[in-house]
Amino acid sequence: MSSSNHRIIFAGAGPGDPELITLRARAALDAADVVVYAGSLVNPVLLDGLDAEIHDSSGMDLENIMDIMISAHRQGKRVVRLHTGDPAIYGATGEQMRRLDKEGIGYEVIPGVTSATAAAAAVRAELTLPGVSQTVILTRMSGRTPVPDREALASLASHQASLCIYLSVSMLKDVVHELLEGGYGPDTPAVVVEKATWPDERIVSGTLDTIADAVRRLDIRKTAMILVGHALEKGAGEASCLYDPAFSHGYRQATG
Ligand code: SAH
Repeated sequence: MSSSNHRIIFAGAGPGDPELITLRARAALDAADVVVYAGSLVNPVLLDGLDAEIHDSSGMDLENIMDIMISAHRQGKRVVRLHTGDPAIYGATGEQMRRLDKEGIGYEVIPGVTSATAAAAAVRAELTLPGVSQTVILTRMSGRTPVPDREALASLASHQASLCIYLSVSMLKDVVHELLEGGYGPDTPAVVVEKATWPDERIVSGTLDTIADAVRRLDIRKTAMILVGHALEKGAGEASCLYDPAFSHGYRQATG
């Protein structure tokens, strides 16, 4: 039985820039009694000035994290679990929510700006360019967490969609190898954005042919998003139907 009226809140911190957290997550942090944050990636500036008791989860295992959250909750405290980007994407929130379900503790999730869209913004790209791709795939190389075979990069590559690859920049050579094997041409645009939206953000643009060397030269090994696809080509794509004068939609009648 839950002894607190407050639901535990899983909140997205956004990609780094403290202005890129939602108003709702900001308010939840400001009202929190206890904050458990993913210390390796969440910008600590977001925690400045908080009265809450603050725990960095980066050195903890699941048990530690859950003990802190559950016991604070049982004392009637407001608990916020702060995850980088959006909690739904590689946030390891599923296992935490399952534990709370078992304990009968209520929780809610506040979304955040995920690093894939932050990286797309950094390079001012539309990932769903008409005539090029209408699909975005968020994925990763397998690491300690295995990726099911049916989702191997080489097979995802066959769609020629826009790819946002998390957690994989340290394996960029293998990423490139799999994508080439899967059917992307060596001239396919590829961009790596390190620490998107942080003051020390770095952007490396190239093609599948050139990107691995360029990233190695800059020694980028973590906190980087890999974007791949023809939508990243300068000047690619057709005009969308949405703003086409011959196309009607809910807010506008066709004129053409
Ligand atoms: N939930 C997070 C992802 C956590 S997994 C989100 O929605 O963004 C951690 C991976 O996210 C990193 O390995 C990196 O690939 C990516 N990442 C997180 N923050 C980033 C940033 N500011 N810039 C580029 N990539 C980032």
